[in-house]
Amino acid sequence: MFSGTNLPKIGGYNYNVVLSSIQAADGISRVELAKQTGLTAQTVSVIVRRLIEQGIVQESGSSPSAGGKPRKTLRINPTAAYAVGIHFDPIEVSVVVVDMTGHKLAHSRHAISPRLEPEALISEAAEFAHKHLAELDIADDRVLGVGAACPGPIDQSQGLVISPPRHDCWTEVPIKRLLERDIGFSVIVDNDANAAAIGERWSGHGRGISDFAFLYMGTGIGGAMFLSNNIYRGVSLNAGEFGHIVVEPNGTPCYCGNRGCLEAMCSPGAISRDVRAELAMGRASTLAKLYHKDPELVDHTAICLAAVDGDAVARRVIDRAAEYLADCAVTIANALDVELLVIGGKGVTHVADIYKEKVTEFLMSRPLARKTHTLQVAISDMANDGAALGAASLVLHAAYAPSTADLISVFRSHSD
Ligand SMILES: [Zn+2]
Repeated sequence: MFSGTNLPKIGGYNYNVVLSSIQAADGISRVELAKQTGLTAQTVSVIVRRLIEQGIVQESGSSPSAGGKPRKTLRINPTAAYAVGIHFDPIEVSVVVVDMTGHKLAHSRHAISPRLEPEALISEAAEFAHKHLAELDIADDRVLGVGAACPGPIDQSQGLVISPPRHDCWTEVPIKRLLERDIGFSVIVDNDANAAAIGERWSGHGRGISDFAFLYMGTGIGGAMFLSNNIYRGVSLNAGEFGHIVVEPNGTPCYCGNRGCLEAMCSPGAISRDVRAELAMGRASTLAKLYHKDPELVDHTAICLAAVDGDAVARRVIDRAAEYLADCAVTIANALDVELLVIGGKGVTHVADIYKEKVTEFLMSRPLARKTHTLQVAISDMANDGAALGAASLVLHAAYAPSTADLISVFRSHSD
């Protein structure tokens, strides 16, 4: 947890410390807040009064206390403000609207024509968002902002998407500027893995956890690090490329220039490639019939379903992918010494249990620090909406996190 400071003139920071502690706690009293933040009871009381007057925090119920009068429980007011999240994936765009607690109020997914230019796609996404807001009857002045999640690498300071793999026409697209123009709200851009991790911290397994890593399996494989209560971005804002950790030194060449990267060995595309290669050799499999009709029909979803059903070929390839993932998880554990590893993204649909079991097994027996604590493994519950929900959470996180006081001023002007 964050610690506050009782020195004068740092009210803005303390305000955010109290706000983020209330968000992380899911019901907390003023006494507990003071204990947790290190702030005096009086400072907490003043800040809480202000948050209640602004409509951001509400008193809901009370908890018994030892001997004294019952303590009022403080919670975030879900209707205080709203945020929009948009995830631009190579094959679809997802749009969500969330309330102040990160709860999903509306969502939709739209297939993308590969020929659609980024500018047209961004305009369409803005239209989808406005349609949701109108249906929910949310006025523009209640919208805190828009988060846009895109495949990396990105330049967050300039809001640029920089030629991501598999997005042929997305070269240095000024997504922040274009989306702000079309949607009329301020926009925060981040890569999809960072967004998904922030979503996880906001309303998923990472809630209230100061140090965790996120392994994101989308079309490619990415990652994010939440360290000391904040996302760690690195010098060029592109840290956490776990997909390019080498798991097989003489493995398949990767577009990054390396060989045997996690992504080159077990992205959905790599898994499909390996299964098709086995089927081409005539191995007995429930997928053989489909393969002979059209090899393209043996896609990642068909393979994952076959693996769960016990098909030997599909299961062997998925088991090997699970081992590579687990190897990578051990590297993450040794490098970061985090409390939790969350695995998410649509690439783990159907086979999450297989991956979780193998990763847990390796983490129990291999990281050097395993005797001091075991790194917990969780599968994200946000499924296909993880990055879009995370994108919306970017906006909420920016409003709460103690290090981003500049955005709080935007928030206050909306809440006054
Ligand atoms: Zn690579």
